[in-house]
Amino acid sequence: MNIQFISDLHLTPERPDIVRAFASYMQEQAPASDALYILGDFFEYWVGDDAMEPFHHDIARQLKAYTDSGKSLFLMAGNRDFAIGKAFLKATGAVWLNDPCCIELQGETVLLMHGDLLCTGDQQYLRYRKVIRNPLVLGILRLSPLSYRKNLVQKIRSNSKKAKSRKSLEIMDVTPAEVVRVMEKYQVKTLIHGHTHRPDIHEVELASGTGKRIVLGDWDRQGWVLTSDESGLNMESFAIQPAS
Ligand code: MN
Repeated sequence: MNIQFISDLHLTPERPDIVRAFASYMQEQAPASDALYILGDFFEYWVGDDAMEPFHHDIARQLKAYTDSGKSLFLMAGNRDFAIGKAFLKATGAVWLNDPCCIELQGETVLLMHGDLLCTGDQQYLRYRKVIRNPLVLGILRLSPLSYRKNLVQKIRSNSKKAKSRKSLEIMDVTPAEVVRVMEKYQVKTLIHGHTHRPDIHEVELASGTGKRIVLGDWDRQGWVLTSDESGLNMESFAIQPAS
């Protein structure tokens, strides 16, 4: 079995280079996989399934071609695309993943997260997250007029840009004690997440021994893919040519 993991592509029409890199990935590398896991922030933002434009339909078609070929696609939301709903899942054939969730990978239980829940230094964000991800709040938001949601997304995006410049880098990274806590709670030796844009493989000291925290990279100047097969886990990056 070849299982691939990607996250934090932040797809937006404003970055045609990344959009093109994703299309190449779906054409060239993804077909070698049996399953693809997208661990959040696949889109830069998501106003609603009812706000899909030709850009989103084009991405959806590429995912649909993948699932139509008999492969499994799993989608976890990130802090930017948490409003993705059932219509998008239906259009792509993707299966929704809760954050966190456990999967079996080559005979081992592995924990998957987007990663924002691990950043416990940012209590202000975690409070906001709790409210906005409440199913009732999300349900009401989905029923609100498109123009209202578009304004809201603009506001959230500009606030998050401002907040980032104020907050220290430590706040933006994971809290080591929280990593240990969740890995021990779910009794896993391997955690895979994105969000922090710090691609790396870290050793984690757990009560049960040494574990691994694998951080997927964001797609910017480079794209990142984690592959799991019989030979183990392998993280690869490739250059993304800037749009001319
Ligand atoms: Mn994120």
